[in-house]
Parts: sequence; C-alpha cells; structure tokens
Amino acid sequence: MLISNNPATGEAIWEAPVGDADAEVSAARGGWAEWAARSSTYRIEALRRFANIVRGKKDEFAALISSETGKPLWETATEIDAVMNKVDISADAYFERTPSRNKQGALNEQNALRHKPHGVLAVLGPFNFPAHLPNGHIVPALIAGNAIVFKPSEKTPATGAFLVKCYHEAGVPENVVRLLVGGPEQGKELAGHDGIDGLLFTGSVRGGVALHKQFGPRPDKILALELGGNNPLIVWDSPDVYASATIAVQSAYMTAGQRCTAARRLIVEDGKHEELIDAIRKIVERIIVGPPDATPAPFMGCVIDNQSAEAVTDGFLDLIMKGGNPISHLRRIEDDKPFLTPGLIDVTGVENRPDEEIFGPLLQIIRVPDFSSAIAEANNTRFGLSASLLSGSPELYNRFWGNIRAGIVNWNKPTNGASSAAPFGGIGLSGNHRPSAYYAADYCAYPVASAEAPAVRASIGVGLKDPQS
Ligand code: NAD
Repeated sequence: MLISNNPATGEAIWEAPVGDADAEVSAARGGWAEWAARSSTYRIEALRRFANIVRGKKDEFAALISSETGKPLWETATEIDAVMNKVDISADAYFERTPSRNKQGALNEQNALRHKPHGVLAVLGPFNFPAHLPNGHIVPALIAGNAIVFKPSEKTPATGAFLVKCYHEAGVPENVVRLLVGGPEQGKELAGHDGIDGLLFTGSVRGGVALHKQFGPRPDKILALELGGNNPLIVWDSPDVYASATIAVQSAYMTAGQRCTAARRLIVEDGKHEELIDAIRKIVERIIVGPPDATPAPFMGCVIDNQSAEAVTDGFLDLIMKGGNPISHLRRIEDDKPFLTPGLIDVTGVENRPDEEIFGPLLQIIRVPDFSSAIAEANNTRFGLSASLLSGSPELYNRFWGNIRAGIVNWNKPTNGASSAAPFGGIGLSGNHRPSAYYAADYCAYPVASAEAPAVRASIGVGLKDPQS
C-alpha cells in the first residue's frame, strides 16, 4: 500500500495499493493502436476537453496539490493554469515541430515527410510540480498518438491519480493513459519493461543517471531526461539594488527552493556586494513561511518531507563546517515538520564547494574580483540548466550569453520563470539533450521519409547488356 501524507500536517490523505507495471503496460499496448489511428484533430479535441475539465475542477485540484506538497494555494493555482495552457501550446508545437510535408516530383511522384508516434511511452514524474511536469510529457505524447503509462512520484500519487482521472473524463480512453502507483522500484520495473517504446523522465540526476545506464543496451528506445541544476545568478553593475535583491529572492526561494531552475549560487563583485546582500537579507527576514492556506498568504511552504528538510539542513551545516559564513540561518521551524527558514550563506572562502543540487531554500554567495571570474564561476558546475545575469549593461549580457553554458539564459529576469512556449532543458548533467516544453514534440514522434508514386514504373538506363546480343 502506498500512503500519501500532507507534509504540512503529517496527516495521511490518500492511499492505494502499489500497482503492477506488467498489467499497466499490457493495457496501454492494447489501447495504443486505436488511439494512434485517430486523426490528430480528434486527439487534440479530446485534450481540449481535458483542459476544460481541469478548469472546472481548478480549486479542488489546486487544494489537492497544496495538501500533498505543502505549496501555497496561490502557487498551486498557477500550476493548474500551466496544466490547462499546455494543450494549446502542445498542439501548436506538434504542427510546427513535427509537420507533414509533400514535395511533388516531375513524374507525379512525391517525397513525403510524416511523423509517427513511438507507441507506449512511460512517464515518471517528480514531486515538485506533480501535475504540470508529467502533464508536460503526457499531453504532447498523446497528441502525437502515443499511449502512456504514468508513474507519479511516490510523494504525490494522489495528484497523479487526479490528473489521470481528468484525461479519462475528457474521453481519452482508459487504456490509453494508465496510472502506475509506486516508488522507484516500480519505476525501474516500468523502465525495464519490454513493452514500452521509451521513457520520459523528470527528476533527480541520480534517477536520471540510473535510467541512462539501464537504457544503455537499448538504443532502440527513446529516453528523455529532464534533471536538476546548480544554477548561477550573477549580479553585476545593476543600477537597482532593491529590484536585484527581489529577483535573487524570487530565484532562490520560490517553491521553498524546490525548483530545478532555482538559483543556488549568487555571484557578485567583491567589494561592491554589501548593499545588495543587505537588501536580500532584509527581504529574506520578511519571508512568510507557512501552511498553504495560511493568512496572510505565505511566500513559501514546507519542503516535501522531514527527510528532505534534514538533507537540506545538513547541506547548510556542511557549508558552515567547511568555512561558509551564514548571513541568514536555514533552520527547522518545528522539529517534526519540514518547514524551513530561508538560508543565505557566503561560501567564498569554502574550498572545493560541493557541486550538488541542494533542493531547498538555500542561496550560496560567491564573491569574485571581475566579470571574467564571474562567468568562470557560473560555469564551474557539472550541470547547465538555467543561468541569469542582472546588469544594466547590454555589453556584459553579450559576454554572458556568449560564454555561459546553460539551456536557459536570462537577462534581468529570475533563473526560474521559464515559459512553456519555449524549449526547456539543460546541458551537462541537467539532461540528455532532449529538451521538453515546446520541444517535447520532438521526442514524442519520429520522422518518416517516404518516396511515393501512384504506379510501379521503372527502367534501367545503363549497365545492362543489349537483350538481342
Ligand atoms: P526523483 O528522481 O527522486 O524521482 C522522480 C521520479 O522517478 C519518481 O517518480 C521516482 O519514483 C522515480 N525514480 C527515482 N529513481 C528511479 C530509478 N532509479 N528508476 C526508475 N524510477 C526512479 O526526483 P524528485 O525528488 O521527485 O524530483 C526533484 C528533482 O527533479 C530535482 O533534482 C529537480 O531538479 C528535478 N526536476 C527537474 C526538472 C526539469 O525539467 N529539468 C523539473 C522539475 C524537477
């Protein structure tokens, strides 16, 4: 039995038996061919009905996500908007990224380009956006004509079950989207199942690397990995200190720092940093941390569970032990609940800083002497998801853009506000070069080139002996 708890209260809110990967894959295999044979218009219409069903349940759905993740209600309402908006964006992307084309030849023959769905795709979802992120794989995959076996995170299975019910209510057949309840064990089983044609994963680098190894001998199956980051935010010659501090706070602490694109490292000019750090500290001290429905509304909720709160706290203490200078302390607010105060720490003096994604509300400050060092420090990571520069100088942005290594590169914007209408992915350990969001269409179908003629007509002009000789 898998039990889901409300992290803000510790209450059990949902339970269901652990599922059977074999049974779910076989059901999806049974449903796939008929779905793939439908027109894309039919499939898109079904998903438009899905968006309307989600719209009708918006408050209920947002409340469920808040109760399962501890995220503030205002924030989960925006997650539901993203779920609904995904349908039209994915329909546009489907036609633009995977179009059909015909080139007519002189003898009435044609060279056609069309796309086919892979078949049955597994989707493994993370806990931090438990509806929006799996939906970001599922909607484009369904539009392209695939069937899905979706295993939500073991920390947010109720949200996963709710999402699947919405597809079914909209008329997507029950054997075209299947729910697999379980944890990493069920994920591994699903990933290794012969009956899937690929796997679309959003989660940790640890999970992604394990899946990459598992898929090593199976180059025939598509594997899309959307992984974590250790994202830099550089502030350099920014004329507005308060606005820069605000963007740094939004980048680091939204969703209690549980965003793949959260700023983890703040890189500033040594000697000119004090006013900025002081402004950030002042905002950090005003941040309200609390349960989803608290009044006044919290800026951030808890992290996902006590184990995660402990890991983030350990990460903070480890940096202090290594010589970091804490400016705002990250600490548990209550011993038995995963609410954390936002942490701010200067780690300039820490040698061999761990290049890890600490998945919580912690921002590390690194002071550097010049802009070249700032870019070098920003690139000093195995990851490459998002990076941002706050600066009044277009010349500095040109240098930054040219030299930074990341899949999302922003200027005077937070590291973490990415658009679904653009590709979303990273380099290094942040993924395997299969960006999602607008480019998800690319990994949901494969291109087929066809040379076609209405009749069999052939002749060999050279290299044959004369039949009379
Ligand atoms: P996670 O890797 O622990 O779990 C993700 C999913 O994979 C879950 O369903 C889990 O049960 C399953 N899983 C884990 N290990 C597995 C394995 N070895 N084999 C098969 N299945 C396995 O991730 P999480 O803690 O739920 O999510 C947070 C992580 O996701 C962070 O690292 C974050 O940066 C990343 N993330 C990335 C993006 C992106 O788009 N790049 C977006 C959101 C979150």
